[in-house]
Amino acid sequence: MELAVKNLNLSFVQGNREGHALRGINLTVKEGEIHALVGESGSGKSVTSTAIMGLLPSPPAKINSGEIILDGNDILSLNEKERRTIRGQKIAMVFQEPSKYLNPTLKIGEQITEVLELHLGMDKETAETRALEILDMVGLGTGKRILKSYPHELSGGMKQRAMIAIAISCNPSFLIADEPTTALDVTLQLQILKLILNLRERLSMGILSISHDLRVVHDISDRVSVIYAGKIVETAPKTELFSQPFHPYSNLLLQSIPDADKRGSRLVTIPGKVPDAENIPSGCAFHPRCPYAMDVCRENDPEMKPCGEKHFAACHLTDNRN
Ligand code: SF4
Repeated sequence: MELAVKNLNLSFVQGNREGHALRGINLTVKEGEIHALVGESGSGKSVTSTAIMGLLPSPPAKINSGEIILDGNDILSLNEKERRTIRGQKIAMVFQEPSKYLNPTLKIGEQITEVLELHLGMDKETAETRALEILDMVGLGTGKRILKSYPHELSGGMKQRAMIAIAISCNPSFLIADEPTTALDVTLQLQILKLILNLRERLSMGILSISHDLRVVHDISDRVSVIYAGKIVETAPKTELFSQPFHPYSNLLLQSIPDADKRGSRLVTIPGKVPDAENIPSGCAFHPRCPYAMDVCRENDPEMKPCGEKHFAACHLTDNRN
């Protein structure tokens, strides 16, 4: 089974203004694979994940073209009731801020059993037994106490684990993890990343991991796609992307990671900023920030072309290879 986004074009329309938030997104997450989607803030990562989940309000969001294929079906063609069934059972999402997702007025146990009763038709007793198993699976071994706790009674790391417990409660085939460690300190970040890896092993889930932090991506992913101004500009197996990035944007992103071995050395910062969706530059959207920009880059938007084993980049420099 795989989750495949095909040529997804999405705009935000407000009055006579239109912002092209996603421009021909193609990406595939295979069963048991962790595919990371990385880019700076405002590059389209979260719009992609929220569009896959069908959680963008329309209007203002407008899908202009494309497909999101899950288990052979285009989920964009389903009605809201059918999509609600898929959410949770086949595909689930964890967010950066558990406080925004967890219901503050319901105990954690109620929030998990509610999902199990609703989606899987379990009776209350079976759902509670299953909830304890899931809490154990996410490292909340004192499950009985957690079941009876309200979200505000849990620490940040425990809330994140509780949210993951709710997300995986119906054993989804795919999990979208939208910056789930960003708000946590380094120790907790490592614990949550280990948990995600462990869940991938135990449940064979495909995971789309959204992150602005390439260090996080390095630790957990199998494949990495780099997104810029709503377009994927490079995709490669993780080891290849980290050792031989092709696209100048990927290269600069990698150079901007703090390196513990080079303490004291200056970090590279990428000049300029990500364009907003209403003002995407002509040609290659990265050309105003790119140190290698050529005339052709200002006029023609480059297509994805192969530049290695299972490695593709959208950059006119690929034309100069061979
Ligand atoms: Fe730079 Fe041109 Fe490649 Fe865009 S297409 S990244 S501007 S070299």
